[in-house]
Amino acid sequence: MADFPDAQHRWRCGHCGNLTRFDVLRSARTREFWHVNLAGEPEVESTEVLEGAIEEVRCRWCGNTDRIEIIARPEPGHEGDSPHDMGGV
Ligand SMILES: [Zn+2]
Repeated sequence: MADFPDAQHRWRCGHCGNLTRFDVLRSARTREFWHVNLAGEPEVESTEVLEGAIEEVRCRWCGNTDRIEIIARPEPGHEGDSPHDMGGV
């Protein structure tokens, strides 16, 4: 079970290092705005999550669920510490 990361944190798979692709199994109680067009086709235009919990987070790369970690996001302006300063000599 994993917690939902906040604005300063993100998930990371401890097995393979995946940071971007996860299957999230969650239960939620939601209120949805259904916009039904003249043909009768409904479209959910907005969803408000009233309550809910994440039950499982699975890495899309390696399929593991037991080592999903929460790590800090890179700080703004530090774009992953890429070596901009190393070039142009
Ligand atoms: Zn993984």
